[in-house]
Amino acid sequence: MRLRGTGRLRRAINRFFRRVRPQAVILLYHRVVEVPADPQLLCVKPVHFAAHLAHVRQNYRPVSLTALNEALQQGEVPDRAVVLTFDDGYADNLHHAKPILERYAVPATVFVTAGKIDNRREFWWDELERLLLLPDALPERLELTINGRKYSWTLEGTGGPERFRPERYRYWNITLKDDPTPRHKCYRELCALLRPLTEAARQAVLAELVSLTGADPLGRPEYRPLTTDEVRALAAGGLVTVGAHTLTHPVLAALPAEEQQREIEESKRRLESILGQPVTSFSYPYGAKGDYTPETLAMVRQAGFVCACANFADTVWRGSDPFQLPRFLIRDWDRDEFAEQVRAWFRE
Ligand SMILES: [Zn+2]
Repeated sequence: MRLRGTGRLRRAINRFFRRVRPQAVILLYHRVVEVPADPQLLCVKPVHFAAHLAHVRQNYRPVSLTALNEALQQGEVPDRAVVLTFDDGYADNLHHAKPILERYAVPATVFVTAGKIDNRREFWWDELERLLLLPDALPERLELTINGRKYSWTLEGTGGPERFRPERYRYWNITLKDDPTPRHKCYRELCALLRPLTEAARQAVLAELVSLTGADPLGRPEYRPLTTDEVRALAAGGLVTVGAHTLTHPVLAALPAEEQQREIEESKRRLESILGQPVTSFSYPYGAKGDYTPETLAMVRQAGFVCACANFADTVWRGSDPFQLPRFLIRDWDRDEFAEQVRAWFRE
């Protein structure tokens, strides 16, 4: 009885709070696809994605990022608004996500890594998974030079040449504390080492790794980025808006100013020339507060973008910085879990 009363009081307080400070949430997706393993937790199964959209459509107010930003410029936020965004620019955003967005008439913005368009190589984090966590045999020792420093890993241990079974570790992911095999430890350490590198330095390490493991340099088709025609097809119809996500997906804060500027401006220019229309929104690669600087924000504004999304969890309210919009990272949740998460974000 007391607990129920407390819950009612809490909800009444929150309702009052939201009347004086209406809130919106921006969701951050990466992929809509079912894959055998997902060590970075980037994939949402199509059936779960459809359940998320059904829930948003029935219980909240789905709006586009453009509409939310226009309201924000007027000093307003539509209460219980939910905005969908995707980062990176995987081809599955067109083939799997768009038909479901259309079914529920939910708008979305897809931030495309412009330099990866038409590229048959996988994104570097996917390539690392393919090279290290999938082969049934790998060299016993791996030696790599990264940024002029030598690193080495012992991969297969001393227990004999037992075949590696990737399916055994399909539920392992980077958020777990333990590494079940030396390969997983190597994968985790290489993720951290490659993240801040320039594209050229990163590609050099990956090329060395391809040659050491004897793997095919071409990526898995279902992991490929969008092609030029697919970027156009994604934006056709107006439900999906394309935004920019740099050229090469660097940690912008780790680059000299002129390199940052090129990544920001050139990604906008390249996407605009593909689409024949202005590209006005941006999202910072990785997007945590240390991944961009105050200078980055100024460059994004200077380049002609009207808003930019970051990657830290918070609701949007009228005082939010349009160049550092917070977002909630979405995992492969079923409808109940998704509903519970959104409820908690709105403090309902
Ligand atoms: Zn990204």
